[in-house]
Amino acid sequence: MTVTCELCHKVFEPDAGQAALIDRSKAKDMEQVMIKCPHCWSHTMVRFKTTAPEEPHLRCPVAGCDGFVVHLKDPDTGSSHWACGECGSGWTQLSSLQREIDRIIKVYPYRSGCYSRNGDQWLAAPSDQAPDNYDELVEQETPDPFESFDRD
Ligand SMILES: [Zn+2]
Ligand SMILES: [Zn+2]
Repeated sequence: MTVTCELCHKVFEPDAGQAALIDRSKAKDMEQVMIKCPHCWSHTMVRFKTTAPEEPHLRCPVAGCDGFVVHLKDPDTGSSHWACGECGSGWTQLSSLQREIDRIIKVYPYRSGCYSRNGDQWLAAPSDQAPDNYDELVEQETPDPFESFDRD
């Protein structure tokens, strides 16, 4: 990597010690670290934490629901689950959510526009490629006669 000094605006390659410091700081999940510029000998900030783009939300794979599934993480336990704010469905296993997406796409192929395949996982399509009348189409689906919000 190269660093641009914030004071003299010259670009330099961190030396071995600085590179190690940068790696350690990254590993600690720090946002920035101060290193010395070899051109002007000032301390300059290396900012390597670019704010991660917000995780696009998956469309809810429940028939009749046009909501979005939100990924919720519990910072204390580290456990995560997925939930739809619209119909209240929840998944504790990503695999069961993925399986449900598989299923709904087969039944209602227009739903595949909402997802993109990455390896063996469904992700939210980068831009909503779903048909314009997606909400109307979903409204016409036969609602799932589910007994529980827990869909694993
Ligand atoms: Zn400098
Ligand atoms: Zn839903």
